[in-house]
Amino acid sequence: MPHDLTPERLELLDRLAAMPSPTQVLLAALEHREPLTQALLRGLLDRVPDGDLPQLAEAVVRHLPDEGADELGQLLMLQAPHLIEQHADELDDVPYIWPVDPRDGDRSLVGLPPHHIVIREGLVDDSSIEHSVRIGHSAQWQALASPDPTDQPSAPSIGEGRVGGLADGLCSACGWQLHRVLELGTFPGVDDGTVPAQIVVCPNMPCMWTGQFFSHADGTPVSVPRVNEFPDAGMPVPDPVPDLPATFHPTPPRWHVQDWGLGGNLNRVGGVGSWVQDMIYPTCPTCAQTIPIVAQFGAFTPFEGSYGWERWTEGIIYAFWCRDCRISAVTAQQT
Ligand SMILES: [Zn+2]
Ligand SMILES: [Zn+2]
Repeated sequence: MPHDLTPERLELLDRLAAMPSPTQVLLAALEHREPLTQALLRGLLDRVPDGDLPQLAEAVVRHLPDEGADELGQLLMLQAPHLIEQHADELDDVPYIWPVDPRDGDRSLVGLPPHHIVIREGLVDDSSIEHSVRIGHSAQWQALASPDPTDQPSAPSIGEGRVGGLADGLCSACGWQLHRVLELGTFPGVDDGTVPAQIVVCPNMPCMWTGQFFSHADGTPVSVPRVNEFPDAGMPVPDPVPDLPATFHPTPPRWHVQDWGLGGNLNRVGGVGSWVQDMIYPTCPTCAQTIPIVAQFGAFTPFEGSYGWERWTEGIIYAFWCRDCRISAVTAQQT
């Protein structure tokens, strides 16, 4: 916590946690200049109904440049930019808002609208909210700030697939067996080729750093021959991510743009990338066009009893799909 937990502050936190809605908690926190942690602010904001956002944004603007107002203002820039962007220059820092419809000539670089990938089994409960206030408050606060709508979307599942496990085939550059990142299963775009049936990758560091291509011409992805830009560092082969069921849920507009540093579920099919560095799209080795993004995966997805994707990169894994050529590409970015 940014400030000491004095008896007065604990008393205030008790009163805030007893409020009946996340909107009221945030409005009261702004009034009292109570600097809640970023995880709590985001957890609460995510639960504020769309209809309450104008009132909240107005209170945020009124309380700028207070610390809590500033953090909420930054989060609102992602979820409801129309309510806050006229005041962007009053914010201490503004998350970089990537273009929502990046294009290369006539080709959209966003393959399809965003869908969250929800993994309900085999993940560790996210405890960031629990840890952000003293133990005595955790149940009350957690009830106000959860469930995270990107982890537990309100929209029903439109398909079922799987994450994790190993894939058939070897990496053309280093010879490692390929790992399966995602099986898209009954996702509605599989049959018409909007999305690949499977996303696979070689998790070896020089392969992750170079970027990889796979031909899906015959169904099973095959590693396209390439030479790595980086030497093999002799890294041990990581255990595969646990093979787990996953469901796909259309993402409500408020979460179409996610900043990789501001938390939430970063595992998505479709939508714009949550770029850690620059917006970089690979070039298709077959048609030489820029390849649209089709999915992304947050390295710190907390798989139970496994390091998961964080052994592959410490940021985000991006998957791309050239539908015309049935070529997938995988890259990764980290700080
Ligand atoms: Zn490799
Ligand atoms: Zn192509």
